[in-house]
Amino acid sequence: MKARADLHTHSAYSDGSDTPAVLVRKAEEMELGGIALTDHDTLMGLKDFMDAASRANLIGVPGVEISTEHDGKEVHLLGYFVPFGSEELSKRLEPLSNGRLVRFLKMVEKLRKIGIDVRQDEVDNVLRGVESPGRPHLAGLLVRKGVVRNSAEAFQQYLVEGKPAYVKKDRLGTVEAIRLLRSAGAVPVIAHPMAIETSNLREFLKQLQKSGAVGVEIEYDYAPWGTAGSPEDVRKAVQGLGFIETGGSDYHGNTAAARLGSATVEIKTIEKLREAAELILSEG
Ligand SMILES: [Zn+2]
Ligand SMILES: [Zn+2]
Repeated sequence: MKARADLHTHSAYSDGSDTPAVLVRKAEEMELGGIALTDHDTLMGLKDFMDAASRANLIGVPGVEISTEHDGKEVHLLGYFVPFGSEELSKRLEPLSNGRLVRFLKMVEKLRKIGIDVRQDEVDNVLRGVESPGRPHLAGLLVRKGVVRNSAEAFQQYLVEGKPAYVKKDRLGTVEAIRLLRSAGAVPVIAHPMAIETSNLREFLKQLQKSGAVGVEIEYDYAPWGTAGSPEDVRKAVQGLGFIETGGSDYHGNTAAARLGSATVEIKTIEKLREAAELILSEG
């Protein structure tokens, strides 16, 4: 029995570089027992992904990651067991995923303004390969140009909030996004909580739990993103609150820093999420 699952990955349908089928093949080669595809603000890769997973020797979990905002703070919300034919959900996510291209180009502009010469052919090259460009792509570009040594440095120096090339995203309210996921029958989970800039993480997560969040991503490697924090910090913050504990690598392809399978959870986590999805559906 293959025991581990990576529940946080991105394909080229958002800002990753692998197709969903390649992602499944790599997970199988690594002997993962389960994998979730959680592209940013889009369900477009899920059909290919689930088709590939059904032919592979592992469990595929259809997911999504939505950029949201609560209390002025950026919160990434994962949704699991997303009904990927859901037109309502797709429609609500559409303006968010289109916004990613606009944001990417604005970040390029900002880099040029501070004197980093990002050429148009370099930008075109990135855009040709991906459906939904984002900061990992821009970080990759800065590494290839030799502006920074690695992706974490690109984030720390240029791409995170407060740095010169940062551009704010259009975001849904977190509570609204939690409701949206639940009304579609999907399980809302707070992604990489150490990235939330709050002084009281426990209270913050308790509030979101009251609004219907069911899980928290615990197993996660923050280092490639230039964020301080560890799974232990999050585990401490949510102790006794009864969240389902999930985890994943946040893999975006081989060019980005996070490696597939670098953070995993026990395979039974998938069953917990499936049960939660059934409960949400039965509550209507
Ligand atoms: Zn995220
Ligand atoms: Zn992610």
